[in-house]
Amino acid sequence: MRKTRLLFWLASSMLMLANATFAAELPEACKSYTPAVVGGPMPPPDSDAVVMRWLGNANFEFAYKGKVYLFDAYFDRTPRSHDLGFKASDVSKAEGIFISHAHFDHISDIGPVAKQTGAPVVGAPITAEVAKKLGVPEGQIVVAKGGETLHYGDATVEVALAQHSTIQPGLLDIYASLYKSDSPPFTEEEKKRLDYVQSLGTFDPKVITEGTLAYGLVFPSGFKAVLIGSAGPITPGVRALAEKLGPVDVAIVAYQVHAVADTQINYTWPFIELFKPKLFLPAHHDSAPPAWVDLGLEPLFAKIRTEMPNTAFLAPLYRSPICIAGGGPDQGKVLSFKY
Ligand SMILES: [Zn+2]
Ligand SMILES: [Zn+2]
Repeated sequence: MRKTRLLFWLASSMLMLANATFAAELPEACKSYTPAVVGGPMPPPDSDAVVMRWLGNANFEFAYKGKVYLFDAYFDRTPRSHDLGFKASDVSKAEGIFISHAHFDHISDIGPVAKQTGAPVVGAPITAEVAKKLGVPEGQIVVAKGGETLHYGDATVEVALAQHSTIQPGLLDIYASLYKSDSPPFTEEEKKRLDYVQSLGTFDPKVITEGTLAYGLVFPSGFKAVLIGSAGPITPGVRALAEKLGPVDVAIVAYQVHAVADTQINYTWPFIELFKPKLFLPAHHDSAPPAWVDLGLEPLFAKIRTEMPNTAFLAPLYRSPICIAGGGPDQGKVLSFKY
């Protein structure tokens, strides 16, 4: 009896010790499904952890030392987009918001999100025009053309002029026909909602060559991430960004719109090869009915495993916390992740 009790006491103290060590190393934010931009926990200033979350499409947040940085603002999405678990009206915190380009699926909610956060909104000239139309206060708009180095909170943000992807004629019709054949038709209400959300952006062809930016996010510890919201051809600006940042800790690159994996890999792969990340995260691979479908990531991951064995990869769900060492000997290593 006494022996059992002693064992029990020993086991529970060890468990408590383990929990205490875990808690000291990993902030609460590493376990939470609540994004920092909607008021979820953030890693405290004395922690070196960076907490990243995918928030649908090419939306990502990076929380670091009590501050959060937001990439893209597309939350109240088109009908039948899968649920993110929060709304644009919930987004209340950001040190800076960095828009890839002014297509609706990157910018539609920037008006309310800019007002609710009070954060500066960075984008290309055409993005700035659209942001203004969507209600972003002019004083919050920061126009960037590529080559700028900006500072917000603890972050340095390097901006590069990238290029948007383009597709062959007919592909959009094929997706429309696939959805028509394989899912119920859109209701009138859904069609109206689709048109409305699509109107919260621009289809100006200038977006392709003049309006798409890539961002490098650098923290004082030396932690570096790069975000590519559309995987077009690699531009001189993106090449210069890669030369400036060197191998990065995290690369986030769009993986859409080609349903044939080998075709899409041809577009996404050059960015992974160029930035040589310790961790690769895909973006934009979720469906957008009646256009894009949910893309399977395995063929891309298999290529990374074979050809870049030092690059880790993850496919988080919406809001899954990915905790990474932001500094020290383990910088860039995944400390914790949960689906
Ligand atoms: Zn786009
Ligand atoms: Zn897009």
